[in-house]
Amino acid sequence: MSGGNLGRGASSGEILGACGVDVGAMSDCPVLASCRFFNDVIENMPAISESLKERYCLCDNSRCARFFIFSALGKQHLPDDVFPHEMAKARDHVRHFQRYGTID
Ligand code: SF4
Repeated sequence: MSGGNLGRGASSGEILGACGVDVGAMSDCPVLASCRFFNDVIENMPAISESLKERYCLCDNSRCARFFIFSALGKQHLPDDVFPHEMAKARDHVRHFQRYGTID
């Protein structure tokens, strides 16, 4: 097999990329250019930030906690302390905002 990190799905025969998503479904996140996480603007970035970027930003943003907040509340309400793999925290932020009208 060529392509190094490519593999096949267990049952469907789909070709999986390095992040485990069908290569046909892989895509860059549409907010890459302005995302403070992707552009390393946030202080105290997690040690696994590069693998998070590969998995979420360059492959499948549909599971990204930051993109979830962005979609629900808009960029102006996207805090620096939520990282792509923290969906539970993101849901708490959105619930809090919907209840109290603020992230804090
Ligand atoms: S962290 Fe999330 S919102 Fe930001 S670029 Fe990556 S996938 Fe998109």
